[in-house]
Amino acid sequence: MKYVDEFRDGERARGLARALQVEAQTGRQYRLMEFCGGHTHAVFRYGIPDLLPDNIELVHGPGCPVCVLPTGRLDMAMRLVLDHPEVILASYGDMLRVPGSGRRSLLQARADGADVRMVYSVSDALDLARANPQRQVVFFGIGFETTTPPTALGILEAQRSGLENFSVFCNHVLTPAAMGAILDVDPDSEESVEIDGFIGPSHVSVIIGSDSYRFCAGQYHKPVVIAGFEPLDVLQSILMLLRQINAGRADIENQYTRAVTGQGNRKAQGIVEEVFELRPTFEWRGLGEIPSSALAVREAYRAYDAEARFDMRYRAAEGTRGCDCPAVLRGAKKPIDCKLFATACTPESPLGSCMVSDEGACAAYFTYGRFREEAEQRQVRQRAAVKARRRA
Ligand code: SF4
Repeated sequence: MKYVDEFRDGERARGLARALQVEAQTGRQYRLMEFCGGHTHAVFRYGIPDLLPDNIELVHGPGCPVCVLPTGRLDMAMRLVLDHPEVILASYGDMLRVPGSGRRSLLQARADGADVRMVYSVSDALDLARANPQRQVVFFGIGFETTTPPTALGILEAQRSGLENFSVFCNHVLTPAAMGAILDVDPDSEESVEIDGFIGPSHVSVIIGSDSYRFCAGQYHKPVVIAGFEPLDVLQSILMLLRQINAGRADIENQYTRAVTGQGNRKAQGIVEEVFELRPTFEWRGLGEIPSSALAVREAYRAYDAEARFDMRYRAAEGTRGCDCPAVLRGAKKPIDCKLFATACTPESPLGSCMVSDEGACAAYFTYGRFREEAEQRQVRQRAAVKARRRA
């Protein structure tokens, strides 16, 4: 297949759905985690759950960069821009709307006078630094392995062009470490989530390569199928996972062969390796502290490290009360299970990170409207119960 329409072909999708009906064994439950938020959105956008047998459950994973950043890191950015009037904080748009401590967002900080600018890329941040030589421009770097190489290139470009008023607040995180953390949880603990296999990320895998997931099969006996983002990609990957599970196999398979190789993009990996190093540990929203799961700017590029330049210190902080994002990100709860879903928390007025980004599970549930009605009915029931209690 060559064109995107072909990957959305209804007849082929129905054919795959029939194959899944045949492959899914009655009396057995399949729980498959789509790690990446892009897949979560594809799943709901194209109505994939409606095509699956009832005994296949898709568990939503933590693969949304905005969602997994803990409140404490967002607070660091907030303190930076409020305490340093010389700083322009350049951030991707989604990050501006995530509530930090006290439910304050960077957008609110901007309303209070902080200089926070929305950018589409690190190049925009470099342009801002060139246009404002008397100011300090800090790029709020977030994301998984897909967005890390551009940030590294931004630092290299700043060095090459002698741009001294540019630095990066680095929050780049690593997918395999998070998958390992999910699989490492003691099965008897409350945090444990039963998963039979992973639908592996697309874009991340273009960079790191399918070989990076070998530990899932080798150490944990969990199959991984790397999938593209189109509906036929997702359906075919689910079928490939079911075939492995039914055969008792745990292999790393690649459905997205049109973009992903075993080794990944060596050049991008080399650039990242040049500029960044592993942090000993990093806190993830929902997954807690994970050793060697994030990157920091190397000593050789310290001049471009905002944490060093502005002596930024991390302090752990609580998220919004009543927000179930941590459990949603672990796959332990569905957004609809959160009492605030579609009632107090909506994309227009998000109370947690998972309702902000295009890759957040709560935003996916809300945007495609599949569970909004249920949430609204629950809200009506909650109000009626409160009234009844008052009357009693
Ligand atoms: Fe958090 Fe809102 Fe999702 Fe609830 S619905 S888990 S408050 S983002």
